[in-house]
Parts: sequence; structure tokens; C-alpha cells
Amino acid sequence: MTDTFVHHLNCGTMRPVGARWASELVVAHVLLVERDDALLLVDTGFGTADLASPRRLGTPFVTMMRPELDEAETAVRQVEALGYAASDVRDIVVTHMDLDHVGGIGDFPDARIHVDLAELDAARNPSLRERSRYRNVQWSHGPRFVPHSTGGDRWFGFDSVRAVGDDVLLVPLRGHSRGHCGVAVRESVDGEDRWLLHAGDSHFFHGEIATPPHTRPGLTFFQKIMAADEKARRHNQARLAELATAHPEVRVFSAHDPADLTRFAR
Ligand SMILES: [Zn+2]
Repeated sequence: MTDTFVHHLNCGTMRPVGARWASELVVAHVLLVERDDALLLVDTGFGTADLASPRRLGTPFVTMMRPELDEAETAVRQVEALGYAASDVRDIVVTHMDLDHVGGIGDFPDARIHVDLAELDAARNPSLRERSRYRNVQWSHGPRFVPHSTGGDRWFGFDSVRAVGDDVLLVPLRGHSRGHCGVAVRESVDGEDRWLLHAGDSHFFHGEIATPPHTRPGLTFFQKIMAADEKARRHNQARLAELATAHPEVRVFSAHDPADLTRFAR
């Protein structure tokens, strides 16, 4: 079993139109996992090329989400600030391929990119409706994709598939996008193991998987219009609420909730 140590990074602050308070900011929660032999990222937020040319992100996204595009927030700069090189990152596991999750993969050209097969297919062959969410310029450098057919193993009642070793798993959580997954990471803390679940965009606010669930005005509507499969999205959000109640030792968080990120700040 591999020893792991997890850093929680924000690789892209966004200030969506209408946001007034700090709690309404949107973050891009990225995990940097130190393993025995190498580093691994879960999601990447925006990359340096997105900052150099925000046009890569598309005008509608930039206008609505208003990303701050601060170079110090990019994953590569944060990896370097911790004393590592970009080449130390050997594997990147992505929850899905929306532009705010894979923008940074170009900063790690040597890394394998692990992704659900259905999601890679959606990104490469998007339907008309999917076209604006995926930006193929973000993978025009020809990264080494490792597609995973999900299913097979079980993890706390969910399907899963091993992405890297037996401590980093893809957990299908369909709905937000065609092949959307959570990424479960087993973390070693003081000699004990515990699981984190980076739940990507399966929910946007921690209250949505609390008991009883509660949300913010407008958030349900926003998620509905973004969803590739609204029924599956709602079903999986309910399953995450059940998981969080039945197994409080598994720490589940959204990619975009600043309160979730604060919870993990060291
Ligand atoms: Zn997102």
C-alpha cells in the first residue's frame, strides 16, 4: 500500500456575475497527492496557457464566471512553490473534462491523464449542446490519455475502478456531464488511512448533500441547465447525501465550494 499525503489547492478563483459575498465565490478545488514515488493531481483548474489567452475559455464562460486568472493559483506554480518540478507530476486524474477542470493539463506534458472513457468520448465527439463546455485547444498538445471503463469494483456501495494503484479510484457519478466521475483518494494520516471523495461538479454547495439538504437560490437552476442528464445528477446527489450520513469518515467535497476548501485548509 502506498503512503499518501494530500494538499488541497485552489487552482482558479471565479467571481460569477451576481456574487456579492466571499461565500459566493467559486473555487477550483484541486488535490495534489504526494505518493511514495511521484506526485498526482486530481483535476487541474486553469493553466498558464488559459491565463495567457483567456479566449481559450470562450467569451460566455469568461463573461459569466469572471475567473480571476491569477498565475500564482495555477497548479504548476503551486507545485513549484512546494519545491517540486512539473515533471514530478506523473499522473492526473480528472473528474470530467469541462474547461475549468482540465485547463492545467498542458502544464504537465509528461503526465498520464486518467479519465472515464465516456467522458473522453464526449469531449472528443461533443453533441451540439456539449460543444461549449469542452475546449479541445486545452488538449491540443497531445497528452497521454488513459481512458478507464468504469465499473467492476465496489467502494462504499458505489461502482468504482482503480485509476492509479489501489488508492486512487474513479467513481462514476453521472449527470453533470456524460462521463462525470468522483475521484476517491485514500490518504494516510498519522499511520491511519481515510478516504476523500473529490465529487467534482456532482454538487456545488456542501448543503446539497447535508441532512436535510439545503441549497442556494439559483443554484439548482444553474446545475439543471448545465446537466447532461438531470435525472442521473439528482439521483447521484441523493446518493452522496446518503454516503455522507452513513459514512462521516469519508470526506466528500465539491470542486467549487469555497467552504469545502476552507474545511481542508491546514
Ligand atoms: Zn466545474
